[in-house]
Amino acid sequence: MNCIILSIGDELILGQTVDTNSAWLAQQLAAIGVACLAHVTVSDDQSAITRVIKESAARCDVLLISGGLGPTPDDLTRQALAEALGVPLELNASALETLEGFFTKIKRAMPPSNKIQAMLPRGSNAIANPNGTAPGIHAEFPHPRCHIYVMPGVPGEMKPMFRDDVLPALRTGSSGAVILSKTLHTFGMGESAVAELLGPLMDRKRNPSVGTTVANGYVSLRLNSRFPTSEEAQRELESTEAGCRTALNALIFGAEDESLPLATSRLMGNRSVTTAESCTGGLLSKLLTDVPGSSSFFKQGWITYSNEAKHDRLGVSENIINVNGAVSEPVVTAMATNARRLAKADFALAISGIAGPGGGSELKPVGTVCIALAHMASDTSRAERYSRSTVSARTFLFPGDRQMVRDRAAKMALTLLRYHLLNQPLPF
Ligand code: AMP
Ligand code: MG
Repeated sequence: MNCIILSIGDELILGQTVDTNSAWLAQQLAAIGVACLAHVTVSDDQSAITRVIKESAARCDVLLISGGLGPTPDDLTRQALAEALGVPLELNASALETLEGFFTKIKRAMPPSNKIQAMLPRGSNAIANPNGTAPGIHAEFPHPRCHIYVMPGVPGEMKPMFRDDVLPALRTGSSGAVILSKTLHTFGMGESAVAELLGPLMDRKRNPSVGTTVANGYVSLRLNSRFPTSEEAQRELESTEAGCRTALNALIFGAEDESLPLATSRLMGNRSVTTAESCTGGLLSKLLTDVPGSSSFFKQGWITYSNEAKHDRLGVSENIINVNGAVSEPVVTAMATNARRLAKADFALAISGIAGPGGGSELKPVGTVCIALAHMASDTSRAERYSRSTVSARTFLFPGDRQMVRDRAAKMALTLLRYHLLNQPLPF
C-alpha cells in the first residue's frame, strides 16, 4: 500500500505556517509500513486543489489530505474534492445534526456559514470530529482505486481523527510491514567523507537504508529498517547500526536527541574541565553548561577577548602574543595551561581564532581557529597535578560566516576533549 500526503493552505505555501501535519502523518504511515510516495502542498485555490487531487489519486492507494475544511470562503477542499470526483456537494443530515450539537454544547448559535461543513461530495462519508466543527471526509476514486481521507488542518483536530478513524482503516488494508528508524550523529567530517567511509552501507537499494543529512555542522545518519515484523526490523536495524559504528568508529558521538555536549559530559566521570575562550566569546562554556548537572564537571571559564585580558587574566606572556600573534598555537597552549592551573581543573580547552568578517590575512584567513587541550602531564606528583600540563594544539580552517566559524570552533573543542576522553586519535 502506498500513500500521498496533501496539505492545503495559503499559509503553508507562503511559509507562514510550517507544515507539521505532513511530517507527523509520514511518521504514522512509516510505523505501519505504508510507503509515502510524496508530500504535496497546494494553496487555497479550488482549481489547483482539484487538479492535484486528480493527479495524486491516480498515483496512489491512499490520499491523505489536511486543511481547507473550515467554514470561510478560503476553505475550498470539499468543493474541490466534489469537482475532482465529478459529483455535487450534498447536505448530510447526520453531519448537520452533529454540527448543530457541537454549537449547542458550547452554548452558541451556529453561524449560517458553518452549514457548508455538513456538505459532503455525493457518495462520500463523514468522519467524526469530536474536537472541532468540520467533520472529515472519506471518499473513493474508482479507477484506479484510491481511498481519500480529508482531515481538518488544525493539528489538534487532525491527529485524533487520524488515530481514531483513518489509521484503523489503513491498518486493515496495509501490507503489515513495519518501518523502524534510528538517527546517529557525527561531527568533524564533511558529508561526502562520511559517505565514503560508509561505502556500500549507503547503497540506495539497501534495507535497512542509510541516508545522511547535515545540520549545524553535524552530519547525521538516518537508518530506516522495513520488514514484515517488528522483530526482524529491529534485528536488521541493530545490525546496520553496528555496521555504521564499525565504519565510523568514534566519529559517531550520539543517537537520536543526544547532543555533542551531553555525549562529551558522559565521558567525564568525576573529572572537571575549564575554558579559556577568545573568538567564541563564551560559546564553549554555554555548550558545556547546556548539559543538566554540568556543575559536577564545570566550575568556571574565562572569556579573554583582548590581548590585555589574555595577559592580565590568564598570564599569557606579552612576548608569546607579540611573536606569534593572538591566533596561534603557542597562545592557545599558554591559555589552556594557565587556565587549567588557575581553575584547578583536570582539563582546559582554549580557543583563539578569526571569526570574521574582518581581521583575516593571507597567512591567517577568516576561519582560522587555534584550539588547545591541556591535561595532566604524565609522571606528575599529586602536588603538581594542575601545574604541569601536557597540551595538544591544532589549527583549523572553518568555512562560513562569523556565526558558523564560532559555532564549529566550540564544537571542535568539545570534539578534541571527547576523543581524548575516549583515548583515540582524531581521524581528521
Ligand atoms: P484549515 O483546516 O485549512 O482551516 O486550517 C486551520 C489551521 O490549521 C491553519 O490556520 C493552520 O494554522 C493550521 N494548519 C493547517 N494546515 C496545517 C499543516 N499542514 N501543518 C500545520 N498546521 C496546519
Ligand atoms: Mg486553511
